[in-house]
Amino acid sequence: MSQRISKKPHISNESILYELNDYDRQRKTQTLIEDDRLQRIPADPVLKSLSCPICLDLFNRTMVTTTCLHRFCADCIYRWLKSENKVCPTCRKVLKSKRYLRSDIRTDSLVDMIKKQQVKTNELSQLYKEQQQQQENE
Ligand SMILES: [Zn+2]
Ligand SMILES: [Zn+2]
Repeated sequence: MSQRISKKPHISNESILYELNDYDRQRKTQTLIEDDRLQRIPADPVLKSLSCPICLDLFNRTMVTTTCLHRFCADCIYRWLKSENKVCPTCRKVLKSKRYLRSDIRTDSLVDMIKKQQVKTNELSQLYKEQQQQQENE
């Protein structure tokens, strides 16, 4: 759930000050994450729209809710429904059972394309690394 943050600029003494809300006042400086965890959070909006909000990975057998059209991996949403959570994980609308889910083949094929592209990108960067190393050794 996103908290609404209102920051109205005040102009005083020729400098712009921003009103701090309660959240700003109490939050601490965050340290940068510099390990592999970074790769698990898709920054790209396309990747994000093709990622499951439960497991944060790309959809695996996409299911879409018929009530609110939110998407999840089949396994993720089944597990969620089994644990007595009868609401949509994204918007909390009532989601009584599997009957309110449909498989989403079009999204599955998009995910497939992205995955193939990622494999290509990995292969290319591997090739590039090898070339760089060869050049260094020469
Ligand atoms: Zn998932
Ligand atoms: Zn929903």
